Amino acid sequence: MSIEIQILGPRGSLAIPMTPREVEHRVQKILEDYNSYPIKDVRQFLTTLPISQLGGYGGNTACIRVEAEDTLLYIDAGTGIRKEGAQLMSGPCGKGQGEVHLMFTHFHWDHIVGLPFFVPIFVPGNKIHVYAVQDDLEKMFRHVFCKPYFPVPYEALGADIIYHKLEPRKPVKFGEIQVTPYELDHPDPCWGYRFDYKGKSFSYAVDNEGVRASRSELGPDLPMYQDLDLLIFDAQYTFKEATERVDWGHSSAPIGLDIAMREGVKRVIFVHHDPAASDKKISETEEQTAKYYRSMLKAAKRVGEDIFEVEWEFAQEGLTINL
Ligand SMILES: [Zn+2]
Ligand SMILES: [Zn+2]
Repeated sequence: MSIEIQILGPRGSLAIPMTPREVEHRVQKILEDYNSYPIKDVRQFLTTLPISQLGGYGGNTACIRVEAEDTLLYIDAGTGIRKEGAQLMSGPCGKGQGEVHLMFTHFHWDHIVGLPFFVPIFVPGNKIHVYAVQDDLEKMFRHVFCKPYFPVPYEALGADIIYHKLEPRKPVKFGEIQVTPYELDHPDPCWGYRFDYKGKSFSYAVDNEGVRASRSELGPDLPMYQDLDLLIFDAQYTFKEATERVDWGHSSAPIGLDIAMREGVKRVIFVHHDPAASDKKISETEEQTAKYYRSMLKAAKRVGEDIFEVEWEFAQEGLTINL
């Protein structure tokens, strides 16, 4: 049995739908390129296009789906959770027999704004378990449904909302899935999660500036990055931007790669893309990161330093990984 992780919202801070004009420009460019493509096979042609020239990286904000055995978990409820909620309605959630676990890293808008549009929450009989390390979890959750910010009051939610206060660095179990919260570097308290399941492990370290990167700085939060098959890491900014935006609470890919290469993380997925970054810019940042990665490997080899090779990519919405 594997654990499946799906990126439902790779965008940070604010959802960014493509405008109709942007879609038109992209379609026009694709059609022009197809005209000069020697083989008249649309499907084959499309496979030659990079993410930035076809579907893009995605505009929905923070939400990750985790599924193993019969347990369905979500980390954060940004706009990425809206469609997911609609799909769940065709299963037990539509009959008021669903059970869903929502784990929150923190309560910035981009991580909660999808909550009032997560339809299973309105269906009587459903059980919605909500988890966070922060105190006042229930107060913060209720606040989302306060007038004048949302017309339906908290009292009208049909589902049973069950609150679970998590303890820092203390594992909780969902069947055979073990989840442990570790503290991240963010302007408001923010907790990432490490998942362990039948010898496989991954961590979600978003929103995270990565100010503490060395083993000694990380201290009790170091296990967040150790012995991982997969690390999902905050790369909102280019490295240069990250050095200029101190205390903004977000990181860049080289910082995540440094940690991953030191700790032997097998694969890194970068998310929380800047809403101000176009698909072209994200793809250029990916190229800069590739240069950085190659130079680090080369430098380590030259001095005989022990670092690990890492598979990595910038996430496209919908990316699914099975561990
Ligand atoms: Zn965020
Ligand atoms: Zn945040």
